[in-house]
Amino acid sequence: MPGSGRSALLRFALGGQSYGATRGQMSGWIVPPPGLPVKREADLRREREAKVAELARRGLLRSERLRRAMLAVRREDFIPPPYRDHAYEEIPLPLPGERATISCPHSYPLFYEPLGLREGHRFLEVGIGSGYGTALALEVVGPRGVVVAIDIDATTLAFARENLQRAGYADAILVHGDGGLGYAEQAPYDCICVTAACPAVPPPLIEQLAARGRLIAPVLERGRQRLTLLEQTADGLRSTIIADVLYVSLRGRYGVGSDPHQ
Ligand code: SAH
Repeated sequence: MPGSGRSALLRFALGGQSYGATRGQMSGWIVPPPGLPVKREADLRREREAKVAELARRGLLRSERLRRAMLAVRREDFIPPPYRDHAYEEIPLPLPGERATISCPHSYPLFYEPLGLREGHRFLEVGIGSGYGTALALEVVGPRGVVVAIDIDATTLAFARENLQRAGYADAILVHGDGGLGYAEQAPYDCICVTAACPAVPPPLIEQLAARGRLIAPVLERGRQRLTLLEQTADGLRSTIIADVLYVSLRGRYGVGSDPHQ
């Protein structure tokens, strides 16, 4: 394709929207070039089914409710059109806003299975991004549960809200604000999922955990990110490291580069 034609196509594909990751603010993974989506619904459905089967085979996806949720939620509906055809690839894709990406497909069982997310739970998501994780959580907790999702970036939150509405997920409580502070109005939570890396688990989130509640977050430790599970038990807080991971940094009061003691 001649250069001018390709750049015109890219301008069209990007639709004038600004994406954090395309401006080079993220490192550690390769962002595919944006392009017009060409895959058909049936192709994407086959990819979704293959991805769910693969995650189950790898032992990451174990619970039936989450398996059904991952089959029910069309991940492509939560991805900006220029990247939609990559919906089922294991790469984080850029989202509208300052510093947001939709996490890789495997991230969801990786975070939600150790949380033990199940029907009727009260769930808090810090860092809504695309809204895909919110939709999965709504499917898992069902009508008796509660899902609250917060994002600090108004542009990203608006993108997530639109995706959720279009996909028919109207029941989540969406909040614009600093998720490090939690959302006391709906506390306590059975499960809290922090989708961005933090220097330490923000204390307000621990305070908002239910009696046997669990929280999962990528926590920075000497330049590495350790996916950490905290469990509220009768003997206090138990901490387990699940895996080494790579996610965007938490912003706000308990974010990277901020000193909460100041
Ligand atoms: N699970 C999401 C991941 C989004 S990336 C998805 O797959 O779509 C992390 C998100 O955290 C970004 O949207 C970013 O804007 C948000 N974020 C960063 N710091 C935050 C904070 N202090 N409070 C709430 N959201 C925050």
